[in-house]
Amino acid sequence: MAPKKGSIPWNKGLSKETSEVMMVISKKVSDTLTGRTKENNAGVLAQSLKMTGRSKETHPGNMAQSLKIKGVKTGRSWNKGMTKLTNPIVAKISEELTGRTKENHSGVKAQSEKMTGRKTGRAWNRGKTKETNASVKSQADKLTGHTKEDTPYLAKISEALIGRNKENEPAIALGALKKIGRTKENHEGVARGANKKTGRTKDNHEGVARGAAKKTGRTKETHPYLASMAEKRKMYRGSWHPNWIDGRSYLPYDNKFTKSLRKRIKERDGYTCQYCGVEECNHWRGLDVHHVDYNKFNCDDSNMITLCNICNIHANKDREYWERFFKDKLTVKLNKVMIYEV
Ligand SMILES: [Zn+2]
Repeated sequence: MAPKKGSIPWNKGLSKETSEVMMVISKKVSDTLTGRTKENNAGVLAQSLKMTGRSKETHPGNMAQSLKIKGVKTGRSWNKGMTKLTNPIVAKISEELTGRTKENHSGVKAQSEKMTGRKTGRAWNRGKTKETNASVKSQADKLTGHTKEDTPYLAKISEALIGRNKENEPAIALGALKKIGRTKENHEGVARGANKKTGRTKDNHEGVARGAAKKTGRTKETHPYLASMAEKRKMYRGSWHPNWIDGRSYLPYDNKFTKSLRKRIKERDGYTCQYCGVEECNHWRGLDVHHVDYNKFNCDDSNMITLCNICNIHANKDREYWERFFKDKLTVKLNKVMIYEV
């Protein structure tokens, strides 16, 4: 309803918040409209009939509205892309929520109870599977082999998910937190998934074959994702890397930092990450031995600590904090060890 250039808008820029007259008009309009339905009012009926059958495919207004909503979804998430690391308000909200469980917070308890009922009592498929129910089976059959390229419904779901990540979507963040530390040894679902996948190759499994076929021939020249990864790597080389500090990572490690020393430190720490507690046998690669004061020439036991790959990456940001944190931890740990040795 943008006014034509040079003309005066009908409300002269006044709103019900700024003008008493507008407030009265607004209230009058609202009172007149209350209770009107297409059953008792010709105007509402006419409007409704006019809109029947309109979709974004057939009506430009609906299309514009849909695009607007999409923009709102991906471009303007509730936290506008801010995380607790970048924005004090998000940090405060996060802090306020920390430690709330259904045991100590009535709101969480109520929500949890609500969800529990929903989950067990009103699952979307009400417990039916394609093995036990014809309509679920027909839906599953219908979707088999379909992709978002040929099925509008899947495209819509896929589109709605674009741009959501654990930084901007609380539900995803919660899901990610819940999954930390799950291995096939301690979690039934992971074990089931792993078992299901054992022995799958592109020769005997349609999904693996499809994934492999999709990737065949992709190069950074033909595939935008690979191109963006290559670009990122280029950017992060050397002084462009966010953790770059005067090139010190190019310094050779001290020749005291040997394999046997790393083994000794890992043994001391029980082959366990000293921050998150993941064990080497459950990690995707060998644990790292980290220099607490970031000085690669200081290979004293009190300056070495075992970390997993992820915690080691975290320890490279906010160095002052982590140096203090691990120093304190080692002081306690080494003093205990000394008492045992006496
Ligand atoms: Zn860790």
